[in-house]
Amino acid sequence: MYRRNIRHILIPLAIGLALLIGYNLFLKPIHPALTMRPTENVESVPPPPPSPRNKPSESEPRLVRTLDQTIIPPTPHHSLLEEIRDEIEKHNLSLAENKLKVLSASVLSDGQTRPFVAILWNNLGLQQERLQSTRASIGAFKKAVELDDANPVILMNLAQAYWEQRDQALNMEFLTKLIKVAPDDPFPHLAMADLLQEQDDLTGATTHLTHATQRAQQDPALRSYLAAVTAKIQRTQSAESRMIARSSTHFIVKFDGEEDQSTWTSVLEILEEAYRDIGQKFGHFPTKPIMVVLHAKESFQGSTGSPAWADGLYDPTLGRIQIPAQGATTDRKWLANVLRHEYVHALLHDRLGSQVGALPTWLNEGLAMQMAGDSWSELDTARHGETKVIPLTALEGPWGTFSADASIVAYLEASSATHYMVERWGMARVDDLIKSFKAKASVATAFQDKLFISYEQFHRQWLEHFEEARS
Ligand SMILES: [Zn+2]
Repeated sequence: MYRRNIRHILIPLAIGLALLIGYNLFLKPIHPALTMRPTENVESVPPPPPSPRNKPSESEPRLVRTLDQTIIPPTPHHSLLEEIRDEIEKHNLSLAENKLKVLSASVLSDGQTRPFVAILWNNLGLQQERLQSTRASIGAFKKAVELDDANPVILMNLAQAYWEQRDQALNMEFLTKLIKVAPDDPFPHLAMADLLQEQDDLTGATTHLTHATQRAQQDPALRSYLAAVTAKIQRTQSAESRMIARSSTHFIVKFDGEEDQSTWTSVLEILEEAYRDIGQKFGHFPTKPIMVVLHAKESFQGSTGSPAWADGLYDPTLGRIQIPAQGATTDRKWLANVLRHEYVHALLHDRLGSQVGALPTWLNEGLAMQMAGDSWSELDTARHGETKVIPLTALEGPWGTFSADASIVAYLEASSATHYMVERWGMARVDDLIKSFKAKASVATAFQDKLFISYEQFHRQWLEHFEEARS
């Protein structure tokens, strides 16, 4: 979010991924390590359903991710398979993996052995995911699917790993197959809806959201969540139905009303420069074109559901940068600031995927402000005024409940702490820090491992610097 004038209460920072949060609650029941903060949510979409799946329940078959490996098929390979299974159970994962890799073609060609080896690969993948990372588990799930692509549990585990890694392999073809193998599960439809809305096929997305909703009968919370997302997509669709879209290599820019050639040119220039410049600093370029919607000033609020005072926002539900730009052509500096600020949010979203919620809000906003070169007069006033410092730990979650005064302090501290960090450690280390959030590290662990300083120490040292600069 970008505010030119901070005079009002802040919109809750929209850095949660609505569809991703929904998804995580779908498929992450057995491992309680939900790293998303479900309260960090998107404007106008209600909180995701409380997770009824945190405890495995036999009445919900889609909870099952582990496959039964107790009964080894009575084949000549029995003892070999038993050995591998025991290594998995003892968590000797690389040993088990090596033994699985060298199984000969003759072992795998056996009709009883083959599906059982797929089960072993699947269960190895789950242990790798639990003890190492999702990235480490993808290979094992792929092997399992190679051996048995009709097993819905195996296919769903691979889909989940793909989703979490924002892997391009979770494509139309894969999801179509998943829908065939697991026809009663809402997840493939939710993922398909997400894929289609990314391609700006909002009609197709709505269809699959309807399918997902129909398949979520036993879960009223999930149903109402899906209904809210559907309503949001439909509202966007109707708001954008008369818009004109123009694409460049990296962006799709939509206009409300008459196309204004000079705005379009300015916006594209600013965005393409942000793409190169910020991309280089971050060492990350978006995996797909980013949608930017330029609203007429009068209709911005109604179309986006944002408060009147917001100058721009990044909507993670639909992956769009939204700004009320028409009529703002003359103020190119303002336009550049807003676009760059929102672009950083979009880039962090693209980069961290489902883990974006693990990034402390102060760092997310701080990076956006630093990269955009934001300078707000309110910040200067606050810098030299008598404001009470809010601990950074209180700025990790959503800012929506802050008073107007507190919000100015929050932005000021976010900008200052991020600036201090980049100055002292350099962008490459800050980059490592961001990576560790993607790998699900806590704030304390990330700071210790990547900046070699405890979070408390960082806080103390930054605060000294901050107070000094104000005096
Ligand atoms: Zn922002």
